Amino acid sequence: MRTKIIAGNWKMNKTVQEGIVLIEEILKSAGKLQHENLQIILAPPFPLLGMASALTSDYRFISISAQNCYYKNNGAFTGEVSPAMIKSTGANHVIIGHSERRMYFHEDNSLLSEKIKVALQNGLTPVYCCGETLSERNEASHYDIIKNQLEETIFSLDEEEIIKIVIAYEPVWAIGTGVNATPEQAQEMHRFIRTQVALKFKDDIAEKIPILYGGSVKPENAYSLFSCTDIDGGLIGGASLNSNDFVAIINSMVEILRKK
Ligand code: PEP
Repeated sequence: MRTKIIAGNWKMNKTVQEGIVLIEEILKSAGKLQHENLQIILAPPFPLLGMASALTSDYRFISISAQNCYYKNNGAFTGEVSPAMIKSTGANHVIIGHSERRMYFHEDNSLLSEKIKVALQNGLTPVYCCGETLSERNEASHYDIIKNQLEETIFSLDEEEIIKIVIAYEPVWAIGTGVNATPEQAQEMHRFIRTQVALKFKDDIAEKIPILYGGSVKPENAYSLFSCTDIDGGLIGGASLNSNDFVAIINSMVEILRKK
């Protein structure tokens, strides 16, 4: 069975002190959130990575992720953070290509491709985000957009590298809007992504890669989304900032796993 993943993207929220409170609240439920096939990822802002890694170090099913990285290992790049620095905090993952990075910081596929390669070289697992805008979906170009976002980034990796990637499908129109993709819409795109991976690499590689759904996942819709065959979990924004909501979302996945 593919590893199931629930990841919380805190975006630019929480001070160190607030982050400690949130993590401690989540850890109170740690016992019931455990399942051998489930990985929980917390992605706080850079200054919280060391603290988050230290607080969760006894919980092997919890990993820490950065939300971004630079594509160089070190040097005169004021304000940037390298994958090696992220790794040195104890974090193991990095989100790359979030639509907010593409939109507000003009990150394109060629830059994201560089970031993915350097992240992998430094032992970080990239959580690579792809997704279409509402106008692209309305124009029915969403499949072409996603295909292009895959082809220009992770499809240049070799087999040993692609197998280390986590993909997150995040339709831009669903992020932070309260309007989630329906389970049918999400499943359809996840199936499409898995098929593209199989065509480019091999069927067994496509079967192993976790594909997460992101976009207004809440306790109310998590179960129906995560029940879909090709949806291997979620990348959760807003709802990951509230421990009750985040724990409830994780519990939906645990419930599904226990029925298998
Ligand atoms: C995200 O930021 O990746 C996200 C999916 O946000 P939200 O859950 O708030 O829509």
